[in-house]
Amino acid sequence: MASTRSTKGSKAKRAAAAAPPAEQTAAEPKPTTAKPLAGRVALVTGASRGIGRAIAKSLGAEGASVAVGYVRNAALADEVVREIESAGGTARAFQANVSDEGQCSMLVNEVISAFGKVDVLVNNAGITEDAWFRKMDYLSFNRVVDTNLGSVFAMMKAVIPNMESRGWGRIVNVSSFVGQTGNLTQANYAAAKAGMLGLTKVVALEYATKGITINAVAPGFIETEMITIIAPKIQEMLLARIPMGRWGQPEEIAKAVVFLVRDGSYITGACLNVNGGVVTAY
Ligand code: NDP
Repeated sequence: MASTRSTKGSKAKRAAAAAPPAEQTAAEPKPTTAKPLAGRVALVTGASRGIGRAIAKSLGAEGASVAVGYVRNAALADEVVREIESAGGTARAFQANVSDEGQCSMLVNEVISAFGKVDVLVNNAGITEDAWFRKMDYLSFNRVVDTNLGSVFAMMKAVIPNMESRGWGRIVNVSSFVGQTGNLTQANYAAAKAGMLGLTKVVALEYATKGITINAVAPGFIETEMITIIAPKIQEMLLARIPMGRWGQPEEIAKAVVFLVRDGSYITGACLNVNGGVVTAY
């Protein structure tokens, strides 16, 4: 009886606390100063450059504390940290080679030591090693698969128990349209990016009741070093294949990631294509 009374009492108190004061009822709700991801901790792999850099900065701008992952470019990672901090956010750089399972779990442990938890994981780090299939060797195949796909498995393994313990998590895996369409000279990369889609769907199903959503974003051609290192003649050919007639920008991928993290509470196992129409053109 005592507990029933106190429950009813606290329900009534909560309802009273939730009701807006009389003078506010007819007006627009007062804007809140808290950012949507305030109190969340986000780990972004490959955040020193390109797409990952834009994702890290966008999550920081939404209020998340950001762990900026990199493998070689410490100076660039530090620059991203400074940019997030100078916009009023919190960030720190973490070095790890995500193609190594041990380094993935060390990375997650370090981020948890520094920030207390990981709420958001963006598996963005990736590489290409393009070659015609007849010239591609098994080592190159494995390097690309380990970095782009093995890393996603290892990072999710390392981070999910921490998310599960709090019943909340958001994972976004950065795949590629190439995983859906294929692309000449990218057998290793296409295999890895297609594999990411299957992996995303299965793990999303397994954690669907645990408060953890797991989705993929599949960019089209995005203007980063991955594109700018390509010979100008080939760049022209690629550009001609984009229905919207321009490269995508890293910030346009970041918007999709932020959407899934911030507003994607009922989206899991999905792949969001952000490609200027490129897939539908095949
Ligand atoms: P970039 O080459 O510009 O940047 C790659 C990032 O990944 C860097 O931060 C790099 O760190 C990091 N990285 C590379 N290897 C490792 C590793 N072994 N361990 C940890 N970090 C690593 O790539 P993009 O920004 O263009 O691409 C980002 C993601 O988007 C990739 O997964 C890519 O496949 C995907 N994508 C890109 C497209 C594009 O057109 N650009 C199209 C479709 C998908 P460091 O700076 O320290 O080397």
